[in-house]
Amino acid sequence: MSRYQELLEQLRQAFPTPVSNPVHDGYVVFSLLKALDRVDALKSQAPILGTPRPAAYDVAATEKLASGARPLEEVISELVHCLDGQLIFGHPRSQVNVVATPSIASIVGVVLPSMYNPNLCSDEANLGCSEAEVRVAAMIADLVGFDPQRAGGLFTFGGTGTLLYGVKIGLEKAVPDVFEQGLKQPAIILCSRQSHYACATAAGWLGLGQQSVRKVAARDDNGIDLVALEQACRTAHAAGERIAAIVATMGTTDAFGVDDLAGVHALRERLVAELKLDYRPHIHADAVIGWAWSVFNGYDFAANPLGFRGRTLRALAGTQNAMQHLHLADSIGIDFHKTGFAPYISSLFMLRDREDFSQIVRQRSTTPYLFHTGEYHPGLFSLETSRSATGVLAALANLLLLGREGFQTLIGHAVEMAELLREQIGARPELSVMNDQNHGPVTLFRAYPQGTDTFAVKHREQHDPSFREQLKKNNDLNRRIFERVHAEAMAGRGVALGYTDHCRTADCGEPISALKSYVLSPFADEGRMSSVITHVLAARREVM
Ligand SMILES: *Cc1c(COP(=O)(O)O)cnc(C)c1O
Repeated sequence: MSRYQELLEQLRQAFPTPVSNPVHDGYVVFSLLKALDRVDALKSQAPILGTPRPAAYDVAATEKLASGARPLEEVISELVHCLDGQLIFGHPRSQVNVVATPSIASIVGVVLPSMYNPNLCSDEANLGCSEAEVRVAAMIADLVGFDPQRAGGLFTFGGTGTLLYGVKIGLEKAVPDVFEQGLKQPAIILCSRQSHYACATAAGWLGLGQQSVRKVAARDDNGIDLVALEQACRTAHAAGERIAAIVATMGTTDAFGVDDLAGVHALRERLVAELKLDYRPHIHADAVIGWAWSVFNGYDFAANPLGFRGRTLRALAGTQNAMQHLHLADSIGIDFHKTGFAPYISSLFMLRDREDFSQIVRQRSTTPYLFHTGEYHPGLFSLETSRSATGVLAALANLLLLGREGFQTLIGHAVEMAELLREQIGARPELSVMNDQNHGPVTLFRAYPQGTDTFAVKHREQHDPSFREQLKKNNDLNRRIFERVHAEAMAGRGVALGYTDHCRTADCGEPISALKSYVLSPFADEGRMSSVITHVLAARREVM
């Protein structure tokens, strides 16, 4: 046997066998188990795997490919080491950001396609996973109120990807044939000041330029100011600019602000008629966070069968009231890896009318997506060529596992925890909630120095230019509290919170910062929420 044949024989052990071999399958599972076992050894009371450590990019940057192979054991060790120092997002003491903790079903949903590599490019590669994509899109269409017979959906590389699709299709409608001819005319994106920077990413990558993103004012409740939006539409029209898309943010990243989508839609209809536009400016709902609240469409808030507390019920009803209009959007972005309890990446781009995909088909002569005729070739219009089914199966897994009631329970619990926290913040004269008009799983709040009138201070910080220096001092106080609380949490005491250095902009131009509690973990409980207050107040005493 030649040297290479010997090596090959060994290396074959490193792959799952293509033909049935239960013993070797056992080895595959055992390897996974071994990895999980080592990760488990990194766990402690703290909401982090292992311990925080300084970065070692200098060493990392000297890495070279070794000449010989290494045992799987050693490789597993190396991989597990990559998780050392990482926050455990499902931990009840971890309330840092909008990151879901994946369910077991959704993890299995990721593992299976990872082992068999189905490509969603076309159904010739894998019929079942292509059907799964159509199933998930149909379920979500039904959930948000789209006509499932007309709607269509496609998984892509993140919420940013969904926005890119939405704006791209809108651009084709506003400036015909950019796909073929290139962009020869300016076009703009309209969104609120509280929208996600993914709008700028899309504008940059589509060749519109980041400067073509027109951010209009947001109201105190972080929703778009419709008067300002109308003004911006009229100004653009008067200047001969086409509108590639109006982006309605349905759940902003920091504050969970929700735009008035029905208002945006009515405005668009009115302007199309009045200005006799020869196109209909595309409305994209960036609902990557807020979509999950659609599970409360049809919930009997009066009977409240799940038994949420009064405050929670009011919060859920308020959000559902806004989210029920999602069907008015031309396209919607949905992240299962944010509020859908799926692993990264699981993002669905939905179109109210799947015919709109024809805007971005590479060869216009083909009609590739009419799956009711038994053909499904999303590869003819998807940005990706190799497109993984992991996100699709993770999403399907959770939709099947949880059903409407399971989602209502998990989302309702997150909001219930946030409401408990707000109740306690409200009882403390030295603390104040910054997003009290937003009713999601996230609470932005600030601590203030002794003697501050927390009823009046927020208004002064926002509007009083003579308060600028005090505002900066208060920002600094909250940053130091955050750092202290974070260090405590990493040492296994208290709760890891998030921090935003810019939740709003004061009229004087100064940013206003805030501590952030983002609860999504099914394991969060009342005790943990109280300890947020205890630790923030202790940190405030320490740093003052
Ligand atoms: C996170 C987020 C995005 C970007 O989504 P990714 O999945 O992180 O690419 C876009 N819009 C909003 C409102 C977000 O919160």
